[in-house]
Amino acid sequence: MTQNHYDVIVIGGGVSGSALFYELGRYTNVKKICLLEKYGSLASLNSNGSANSQTIHCGDIETNYTLEKAAKVKRTAKMVEKYCLQHGYENKVIFSHQKMALGVGSEEVNYMKNRYKEFKSLYPYLELYDKEKLAEIEPAVVYDKNGNLREEEIVGVGAQNQYTTVDFKALSDTFIDNTLKIEDKVTDIFFNNEVKNIQKIGSTYHVQTSMTQFTADFIVVDAGAHSLFIAHKMGHGLDYGCLPMAGSFYMGNRKILNGKVYMVQNPKLPFAALHGDPDILVNGFTRFGPTALMLPKLERFKPGTYLDFFKTLRLDLNVVKIFYDLLKDSDIRNYVLKNFMFEVPFINKKLFLQDARKIVPSLGADDITYAKGFGGVRPQILDKKNQKLMLGEASIDTGEGIIFNMTPSPGATSCLGNALRDVHIICTYLNLEFDEEAFNNELTEDTIRGDSNA
Ligand SMILES: Cc1cc2nc3c(=O)[nH]c(=O)nc-3n(C[C@H](O)[C@H](O)[C@H](O)COP(=O)(O)OP(=O)(O)OC[C@H]3O[C@@H](n4cnc5c(N)ncnc54)[C@H](O)[C@@H]3O)c2cc1C
Repeated sequence: MTQNHYDVIVIGGGVSGSALFYELGRYTNVKKICLLEKYGSLASLNSNGSANSQTIHCGDIETNYTLEKAAKVKRTAKMVEKYCLQHGYENKVIFSHQKMALGVGSEEVNYMKNRYKEFKSLYPYLELYDKEKLAEIEPAVVYDKNGNLREEEIVGVGAQNQYTTVDFKALSDTFIDNTLKIEDKVTDIFFNNEVKNIQKIGSTYHVQTSMTQFTADFIVVDAGAHSLFIAHKMGHGLDYGCLPMAGSFYMGNRKILNGKVYMVQNPKLPFAALHGDPDILVNGFTRFGPTALMLPKLERFKPGTYLDFFKTLRLDLNVVKIFYDLLKDSDIRNYVLKNFMFEVPFINKKLFLQDARKIVPSLGADDITYAKGFGGVRPQILDKKNQKLMLGEASIDTGEGIIFNMTPSPGATSCLGNALRDVHIICTYLNLEFDEEAFNNELTEDTIRGDSNA
């Protein structure tokens, strides 16, 4: 074996790859692991704080989640919270804000009241806020620009003392720092090593990067939008295509909201409705968004990757059918058109304001600006076999010692949960031990003290 041989190589230094690197280092008896990252630092793409909404999506205010999905994400979201508390990262990596989902108009108000009853069993800390209470805790959602109470019925369902917000780049940095401190293992990181080619010879994977070569017994590809691109190159996941949906934001010129305010989701629409969030990297100023625009590239603010997009889309009649089915619904058609307009200079802000005023009725054109350089790409998966757009994450376990993970939202929240799934697969394949007791003690919810812990 060469010096560059590892038991496991993780490809991609976003929050998914970093979390896996950490779990392998801390909870298994693996001897040699390595992480390969294309760029010169960790989390420079979607896991960067400026690319995403910095939200721990634990399912309590995400009205597009069913109770079943909420229970799943709650478990993995709590892992991130427990990890941060264990290491004392409060107000450095993880932050607490007030949060709520807002129902506006009688239909949404009734919906939110019913949802509150249903979801309180899973989230006992949830509270119902009427207009009067909202005027006290989140006045911007209640008053119009003349200082009068808005006329529509309105209700909020939310919480006051929960951890809500994570700097996912900082989180990635801590995963790596903590893994590099482990003494009885080889834990190597190679930056500026873009993986160009992977080939399996016998039972060993040969990895060619832009700099050098590595070999490994097991590989996990956590390369975000490029995971499927790499899978296709190796002949895996050919029934999937990737649809990159860019998300942009508008930045408030101050703290317009006191906390996170989400809206009721139209169940037909594939992405979360616009919301307002305190940006922890910009003095807590309120950031509105994200929008949703199909973009023919895999990396938002990096040059190139147009060709990678076309290769990963794998355009055929199945893809055309998926688009046709989506666009024949007028709600989806209007949504797609509106989101396209949100990117067109001169008219974009006016249109965006119309939507954002559902959250903040007094919002004026001078209050927000298009957040240049903010936003990322959600690598949504097209399931060609079933001719459907998949809404969540996807993972291809080939059973041959290589896994490919595609991670649109809430991929950052579920980084430790996804890593746990992969650690189990790796340990079985390589006959390694996983210290489940330590993992459960440190990261699972059963050992969290109480529900309100911020
Ligand atoms: C607008 C928007 C808002 C979002 N909001 C939230 C939110 O509030 N909460 C939440 O939980 N999630 C959110 N998400 C989703 C979240 O950002 C992603 O799920 C998460 O960041 C994915 O992490 P990742 O490590 O899998 O991928 P990425 O962060 O994309 O990282 C992939 C890494 O792989 C590297 N790489 C790629 N190709 C190669 C190669 N060939 N060789 C080596 N390295 C390679 C890249 O350089 C990169 O560092 C949002 C996403 C968007 C776009």
